[in-house]
Amino acid sequence: MWFSQAALSAWQSCPLKYKYRYLDGLYWPLATGGQLSIKIERGRQFHLLAQRYFGGWTGNPPGDPLLADWLEGLRGFLPLEPGLEYLPEYELRLGGAVPLLAKFDLLVVGPGAVTIYDWKTEDKPPGPGLAAAPQSRLYLYLLSASGYFPQGKEAAMVYWNPRFPKKPLRLEYSARQEEEDGAWLKRLAEEITGAAAFPPTQEEKNCRYCEYRPVCHGQSLEDVQEELLDTDEVDWDQVQEIELKGVIL
Ligand code: SF4
Repeated sequence: MWFSQAALSAWQSCPLKYKYRYLDGLYWPLATGGQLSIKIERGRQFHLLAQRYFGGWTGNPPGDPLLADWLEGLRGFLPLEPGLEYLPEYELRLGGAVPLLAKFDLLVVGPGAVTIYDWKTEDKPPGPGLAAAPQSRLYLYLLSASGYFPQGKEAAMVYWNPRFPKKPLRLEYSARQEEEDGAWLKRLAEEITGAAAFPPTQEEKNCRYCEYRPVCHGQSLEDVQEELLDTDEVDWDQVQEIELKGVIL
């Protein structure tokens, strides 16, 4: 069992969701139509464009004006610079007592530092709450503790949303934070592997964009989608990460 940010988030959100996904292997797509699918598909296309851009692609701009605008914004935000190494869609694993894995949207390796970039496309800029999100803690810890990059101790992470190009969120990392995150990940992994029961969450909002709604509540997401799209409580990060990277990463 490799612990990914999706697995850790699923466990924290609802132990039953974790069991369905990772122990029972029960999986089906979250969205099959409507506004949610459109948002997810646009996010997927942007991730693909970013991957191509940082991989050296020089083709025509996308036909969709919004995507073309987003790509232009990305070029302005992070122009390709000589002397830096760009590694899009980079997967990193760390074995040991707590096996961890992550697939970064982008790693930029420079002479003294390595920075993780993560793209968000929801309707809000990346907020400071992301500093404590499982994704940030896992990604930064994994990068720093892996020792894969000699400069790993100077790891940082940047969240960027093309809808808000001037509002990136940058997280620095320290040895102290690495120690705390390592202990937190160990506790969480022990909690998961030692669990004797996987109860459903008592937080109704955690069920709103869960793919197992039909199993637990007899109602698919598409049936409730319209009434929920305007809420501020939807965890778009999770929705997008699952749809874009799958349940493993
Ligand atoms: S629908 Fe709710 S209770 Fe059921 S697995 Fe999802 S989050 Fe858990």
